[in-house]
Amino acid sequence: MATLVFLEHHGDELQKGSLGVLTKAVALGGADAVIIGEGAKGLAAQAGAYGAAKVFACEDAEVAQPVPQPRVDVLAKVVSDGGYDTVLFANSVLAADIAAGLAARLDAGLNWDLVDVELQGGDLVGKRPALQDTVYADVGWTSTPRIALFRAGSFDAQESGGGEPEIVDVSPSYAAHSTSVKLVGQDAEESSGPSIEDAGVIVAGGRGLGAPENFTLAEELAKALGGAVGATRAVVDAGWYPYSAQIGQTGKTVSPKLYVALGISGAIQHKVGMQSSGTIVAINKDANAPIFEFSDFGVVGDVHEIVPKLTELVQQRRGS
Ligand SMILES: Cc1cc2nc3c(=O)[nH]c(=O)nc-3n(C[C@H](O)[C@H](O)[C@H](O)COP(=O)(O)OP(=O)(O)OC[C@H]3O[C@@H](n4cnc5c(N)ncnc54)[C@H](O)[C@@H]3O)c2cc1C
Repeated sequence: MATLVFLEHHGDELQKGSLGVLTKAVALGGADAVIIGEGAKGLAAQAGAYGAAKVFACEDAEVAQPVPQPRVDVLAKVVSDGGYDTVLFANSVLAADIAAGLAARLDAGLNWDLVDVELQGGDLVGKRPALQDTVYADVGWTSTPRIALFRAGSFDAQESGGGEPEIVDVSPSYAAHSTSVKLVGQDAEESSGPSIEDAGVIVAGGRGLGAPENFTLAEELAKALGGAVGATRAVVDAGWYPYSAQIGQTGKTVSPKLYVALGISGAIQHKVGMQSSGTIVAINKDANAPIFEFSDFGVVGDVHEIVPKLTELVQQRRGS
């Protein structure tokens, strides 16, 4: 198996999700990586620490902006020249567009929303949640290259003690249509701490918080735990919190190690976005709230009484 992993970066940081996919690929038998955009070469050593043997780096002016199509050109060249039969991506808005474009370009099969992958008798088999995450389906590919897109948080990123990788400069010829898109502006959302896609801990708030200003309860607990804040659709629709934090069927799907739900009823549309979290803790004043049916720990009580004390306790324990 010759595996290539797309490593997404923002600024001078490789995204944890894609390093997790690289960790998995290395465990399956080794992998090379590709980094595209400003600062790519400088990040290659980091990819080596996570086990990439060879890192393809492209810093052409055509890929300075985070648009997918020129990246498809880079990947198509690396995959074709290097004879890679497997190309893996961690899901993001950008990665999903690149993976789809690459599948179309190479006439390749793309399995998306996978949460795991393994070798079964020499065949690569992906695991894909189906029927609103109530079952896992084994999925495969009928041709190569096999392209896969993994759900956020599917794998932990672990350094492997790998040495300096071989760094290969890539500069493909770009198709006219690939360079015709120009990004006219970009505004970064003001945020501190990890994004919900990358966070190991998510503290999510629902309508039970009572008012938008009470989201500070979720924010303070998330800060104390070193995590990110998520939200239900009910509060996003009400304008209490931005859509980028929405978790669920029409929001993001996350799998942090710890998910703390504050005043969330546990509707099926929310559940499908977070039920694969490692440990789920729910605080809800209604003992019959559906969320308790799929929580590991449940506290029946008022978030306004419990959360400030919990935050204080976490701060004391962590000395923050
Ligand atoms: C097509 C479709 C797609 C959808 N997509 C999504 C999605 O992506 N994500 C999503 O989240 N929802 C989604 N929904 C909406 C979903 O059905 C629920 O309406 C929503 O998740 C409910 O949000 P909530 O838990 O914040 O609010 P509620 O259901 O109103 O629950 C509030 C909870 O807070 C508890 N509570 C109240 N006060 C307190 C207190 N002081 N202390 C402790 N607990 C308290 C209550 O007991 C209750 O259980 C979708 C719906 C549809 C139809």
